[in-house]
Amino acid sequence: MKMTLLGTSCPAVSTRRFGPASLVRHMNQSFLVDCGSGCTQRLLAAGSTGRDLDAIFLTHLHSDHVIDLYQVIISSWHQNRDKPQKIYGPKGTRAFVQETMKLWQLEREARIAHEKRRSIAAFQIDVVEFEAGSLLKTADLEVHAFPVAHAPVKSAFGFVFEAPGQKLVFSGDTGPCDSLVEAALNADVLVHEVFIHEGLAPVGLRTAEGIHAVQSYHTLSTDLGSIATKARAGCLILNHFVPPDFDPKPLIATLRQAYSGPIIIGEDLMTFDLESKTVRYKELSFAL
Ligand SMILES: [Zn+2]
Ligand SMILES: [Zn+2]
Repeated sequence: MKMTLLGTSCPAVSTRRFGPASLVRHMNQSFLVDCGSGCTQRLLAAGSTGRDLDAIFLTHLHSDHVIDLYQVIISSWHQNRDKPQKIYGPKGTRAFVQETMKLWQLEREARIAHEKRRSIAAFQIDVVEFEAGSLLKTADLEVHAFPVAHAPVKSAFGFVFEAPGQKLVFSGDTGPCDSLVEAALNADVLVHEVFIHEGLAPVGLRTAEGIHAVQSYHTLSTDLGSIATKARAGCLILNHFVPPDFDPKPLIATLRQAYSGPIIIGEDLMTFDLESKTVRYKELSFAL
């Protein structure tokens, strides 16, 4: 199984870190986890396209995680997708998808009539709204969802991708919670969000109260090391950086106080091969 980080930022705009999205590839299957801003460009750079996707998994419906969903759908059609798109999302996803498709309906119909392509099957969207549990099971891969703590968001989930001898876990957006530790137990790779509170100050429209509110539904860097240790994670990959610009050294030092395994600062288009336990990023390649 291979996992590529497509976007490692949060709602904050960054030229280096795009919106939250990740690609999971295993055998001939490929899955997109979240559709943050810029994910179709990153998909292409990762050697994939929306045409190839077998399913899209949404952790929750915060805009930073779903803003490019329509872009995935329309660009997949332009990439010659000729089959329906399957989307697994929490409660509310069906209405969100219906409204999104409705918003673009007139433009889409005019485009379909004008472009005269051979298929419009890519616009058939099969939505599966899920609660926690198994979502997909094939002979060599199982995906399941677990609830996380992202209140006031009611339905927020993390995902476990399991292949024989390989376990990959995405935290989604969450504060510390037992359900994550339980689901991530003995993961080979834990891809976890991180809130670097030392990096945020009340400037511009941002207030101290607002920073506190945001950090209350994320995981502080000071808490993440012990979470990875409790989960006995084989490797911790940091993702969804709030803020997207930070000093990596003190961040690693903070995490190192409570976690002794490999810690990787996730970067857009970094790929982790779970079989060979190898990380690839630009010209770099190293085994753990
Ligand atoms: Zn987010
Ligand atoms: Zn969120």
